[in-house]
Amino acid sequence: MNNIKLKFKSLVNQRVGFICFLVFLLWIKTVIAYYVDFSLGLNDPLQHLIMIINPIATSLILLSIPLYIKRTKISYIIMGLIYLIESIFLYANILYYREFSDFLTSSVILGVGKVSKGLGSSTFSLMQIHDFIYFVDLVILILLFSFKLIKLDTKPIRKLTAIATTSVGVLIFSVNLMIAEGNRPQLLSRTFDHAYVVKYLGFNSFLGYDAIKSTMTDQARSTAVGTDMDDVLNYVDTNYAAPNPKYFGKANRKNIIIIHLESFQQFLLGMKINDQEVTPFLNSLYSDNNTISFDNFYHEVGLGRTSDAETMLESGLFGLGSGTFFPTNGPSNTFQSAPAILAQKKGYTSAVFHGNVGSFWSRNEVYKNMGYNYFFDQSYYDNSIENANMRYGMKDKLMLSESVKYLEQLQQPFYTKFITVTNHYPYSLSEDDNDGFTAPDTTDHSVGSYFVTAHYLDNSLKEFFDYLKDSGLYDNSMIVLYGDHYGISEDRVKALAPIIGLDPNTFNSYNNSQLQKVPFMIHMNGLKGGINHTYGGEIDVLPTILHLAGVNTKNYVQVGSDLLSQQHKGLVAFRDKNFVTTKYTVVNNSKGPQVYSNETGELIDLQDNPDLEDKVTNWQQEVNTKLKISDAVNNKDLLRFYTPNGFTPVNPTDESYNYLNQIQRLIKTRNSLGAGSTSLYSKNDNKSTTHLYNTDAPELNGDRTPIDDWSYVLKNDANN
Ligand code: MN
Repeated sequence: MNNIKLKFKSLVNQRVGFICFLVFLLWIKTVIAYYVDFSLGLNDPLQHLIMIINPIATSLILLSIPLYIKRTKISYIIMGLIYLIESIFLYANILYYREFSDFLTSSVILGVGKVSKGLGSSTFSLMQIHDFIYFVDLVILILLFSFKLIKLDTKPIRKLTAIATTSVGVLIFSVNLMIAEGNRPQLLSRTFDHAYVVKYLGFNSFLGYDAIKSTMTDQARSTAVGTDMDDVLNYVDTNYAAPNPKYFGKANRKNIIIIHLESFQQFLLGMKINDQEVTPFLNSLYSDNNTISFDNFYHEVGLGRTSDAETMLESGLFGLGSGTFFPTNGPSNTFQSAPAILAQKKGYTSAVFHGNVGSFWSRNEVYKNMGYNYFFDQSYYDNSIENANMRYGMKDKLMLSESVKYLEQLQQPFYTKFITVTNHYPYSLSEDDNDGFTAPDTTDHSVGSYFVTAHYLDNSLKEFFDYLKDSGLYDNSMIVLYGDHYGISEDRVKALAPIIGLDPNTFNSYNNSQLQKVPFMIHMNGLKGGINHTYGGEIDVLPTILHLAGVNTKNYVQVGSDLLSQQHKGLVAFRDKNFVTTKYTVVNNSKGPQVYSNETGELIDLQDNPDLEDKVTNWQQEVNTKLKISDAVNNKDLLRFYTPNGFTPVNPTDESYNYLNQIQRLIKTRNSLGAGSTSLYSKNDNKSTTHLYNTDAPELNGDRTPIDDWSYVLKNDANN
């Protein structure tokens, strides 16, 4: 015992040793906080490991700074201050998280952000008894100093020692970053979620990272001026495609239900594996007389993937060329988005249903700016059901079946979006979920199981449609389905190719472009349907839907155009500037543009076709302009300078976009409208229709939680 005491004394009485002791104390506190006070969504043992080591590097780097100061006392005072600031920063994060389920960002600390409400008077109510553990160390340090167990090390510190200490910190940080990037590729370039960055790199790194990001965003914003809008408005004007009278207003004041088919590629439609249809329900919908189905429709997402698809569908603008729009610009930008346009022009109520946490991609902030009235995220579903949650949220059958108790309360017409998650990489499902459907024979497990989760998604949608029909919602709704992006990435394509009838040895850029096709279907009773061969992509969805809903898009800033319009040009721009026309697929590489014929898939030699070469140059310019215009609007937040006639920009702090206490808001709206309430529930004599929903989700074991049971939700609502 005495021996240990001596060793401890000799350690902490050296300056570097003392720093190590401080790092150790901060480390212990932070790890306790990670497990006790935060829920960071840990999925595998490696993530636990990364999280446990991540506080060490940055605290060592910070605490090594005083080593560069020659004078002993000042060096120790600075050390103490850094330690104190780090301790307060940790505790402030804990309190902030209890209130907002988020972490302290630079804008919150500086008090200039939209969430500058801060903690204020409610701080005390957020404190908990166990919080004393976050201050025990300070007491210990004071005692150690007062009993002279720690003495100041007056020996001058050599510069080399200081540099070495900092370097060790930097080295640990590099290793930390490397493992993190291995476990979650593109962690920093994509910014999925604040919790991701904290989980992998800690609070300090998150703050630094956030500060850099927001400085960059602010810079682009602050240099922008109103006249930057001139080019944009010119472009929008020339790009405008007038609505087709045959379709304009066809869905006037109908409910609009958007179904986001996660990672769903076009080739799944009509496919059979081991003699079983992969997606029997979607196949029947695809060829239904009341469905307009597109077979030359491409996804156009960049790094923001799912959220880029949402950006295009809601706002008619692309995601960013570098970085991700949703978390970077979404929380602060001004929008002219579908929910707000439909609310103001046609009286729609809007809602998103999604089984993941609301902070993912910063959706909970972006949706407000878009004008979504409600956002039912993971906290609005029954998370006590065993195995209900997969990596990206609640399984589709559970999410969809549990959503209808909210859906039936929405005032009609409503504009709603359901974001499915089960068909998301790594495509894991238990045996019970696939109703006897078997995966194709392949050595790549995730490629094989992709078909299984797609089959599950198909099954979930059939259950949902059955409910829509039985409840009567189907009769006055237009249902729009789209795949957001590919599910099998290029590096797994060798395993995929033989399953979809391609030769992995001759697989080329043209084949890859073809794989970027995703489904786009518009289904409505009485809609003159059929397979439509128009070339288009996600950027064209918003004008198409708005025109069907009877809203002319002429004055709105959108860079796509109505797929049903006679004036629509079939030039599909990918986010990486490659493109597809009605006749050609153009892929740029180091040798210049590679042009393939859509008809034969053959590479065309441009030297033999000077006319075509000129055309390709022109198309490329058109594509570049389209992307440039969209990027200018998004990066510089230009829509704050331009409001179309008859449109009011969304005020995200308005009570009608408050995602806390949504249940109370639904009930309040219903009661205040009385006999004028148009919700399905009210129209059904104030009776729930949830019993009409039939699901075979195995998690519910037959004796499922009654899905009109609101009790657990109300508890969530109150907690919010
Ligand atoms: Mn996605």
